[in-house]
Amino acid sequence: MFKGGLALISRRTFVAALPFLGTGLSTLVRAEGAAPSATLFQNVRIFDGKRNALTAASNVLVKRNVIERISTAPIAAEAGTTTIAGGSRTLMPGLIDNHWHAFLVRPTPAQAMGDFAFNILEAGDEATATLMRGFTTVRDVGGPVFGLKRAIDAGIVKGPRIYPSGAMISVTSGHGDFRQFSDLPRTIGGSPNRMEQLGGSAIADSPDEVRVRVREQLMQGASQIKLTAGGGVSSPHSPLDVSTFTEAELRAAVEAAENWGTYVTAHAFTPAAIQRAIAAGVKCIEHGFLMDDATARLIAEKGVWLSLQPLPDELRQGFPEGSVERAKADEVWPGIARAYELAKKYKIKTAWGTDILFSRDLAQRQGAILVSLVRWYTPAEALVMATGTNAELLALSGKRNPYPGKLGVIEEGALADLLIVEGNPLENIKLIADPANNLKLIMKDGALYKNDL
Ligand SMILES: [Zn+2]
Repeated sequence: MFKGGLALISRRTFVAALPFLGTGLSTLVRAEGAAPSATLFQNVRIFDGKRNALTAASNVLVKRNVIERISTAPIAAEAGTTTIAGGSRTLMPGLIDNHWHAFLVRPTPAQAMGDFAFNILEAGDEATATLMRGFTTVRDVGGPVFGLKRAIDAGIVKGPRIYPSGAMISVTSGHGDFRQFSDLPRTIGGSPNRMEQLGGSAIADSPDEVRVRVREQLMQGASQIKLTAGGGVSSPHSPLDVSTFTEAELRAAVEAAENWGTYVTAHAFTPAAIQRAIAAGVKCIEHGFLMDDATARLIAEKGVWLSLQPLPDELRQGFPEGSVERAKADEVWPGIARAYELAKKYKIKTAWGTDILFSRDLAQRQGAILVSLVRWYTPAEALVMATGTNAELLALSGKRNPYPGKLGVIEEGALADLLIVEGNPLENIKLIADPANNLKLIMKDGALYKNDL
């Protein structure tokens, strides 16, 4: 903590000195993502992350990492300001993926338990690819990403802001227990299994154990706690119909998280698992694909968030035919459309994410998966969800928010995570599916990571 603070001070001092250094050096440093002192966007039409229309031609001044001024009148540029001629292109907030696993995007489950050094370097490479797709923030809902987040924040690796959960917390046999039968029995207080050693998941079978595991994640910097309240598709020993944690165990997690000023989000498919999680004080449900009308109504009434993912069919087909996982995927997939319809019917606070696992190819379609929301939403509704609305869920981290300040919107005082799109994504949302060609500029925290203008 202290060390990071010192690094930040010396970095700021260095960046402040940039106008006095040669252009060559400043270009070099900016290419690595250091924040220039000021950037002025001229003649851009703004999608602000809230409204369903672009503004008139506007100018936007970013100072350090904050949007300082927005005006349709010209803004004077002080010496040292980088000026971007927008050419009436669209300026929009950086995209947010609220269900991401930075460590598990590319490896298979077996590889994920293997060579940690290789896997974390690969996760770093994927983090850079994620940022270059226009995703400036991800909420990581399970995986060993504290070190990756720290390296990104320190400017060592290029990547998105990460809201980390750390290890996903599960019961014995629950979603996230990847052990073999030969690993049984577990002795409470005994040595951790491989996934626990890596920080990928943590097993807890009593309120006391839950408290320990939750506090271990908070100690390492978790911005929210993720637990699995019911069965899941990609884990070998968790039937879809089961409810896992008891209500007392769930309450222990909620209490520990709330004592730290943050919240618990729960993986849950079935009405029983969702209802028990809500009764215990869980503030966000992940997936909810097997919910019914009554459960959807309850989610809406309690003001609980629903974090939904329009999972592509390729993910289902990725599970080998005849496997237990494939059978579970076949049962879950029809629920995706139903969950979206229920979310709309009951006006549930709905967040968007992708949950891409085990596939670099699929990760390259992160933007296309956002575009696929047009099955249920207008382009503007989909883009608001992936920016302004998703940022509201991130803000639920309260005092544990690693990036205090407003994200997901373009307004004065908000953090400067910005994209310039060639064209109008509100009219043609498919532009988002091809970031290499259509995103002309990517800024995160006031620093330019791509500038084709
Ligand atoms: Zn997930």
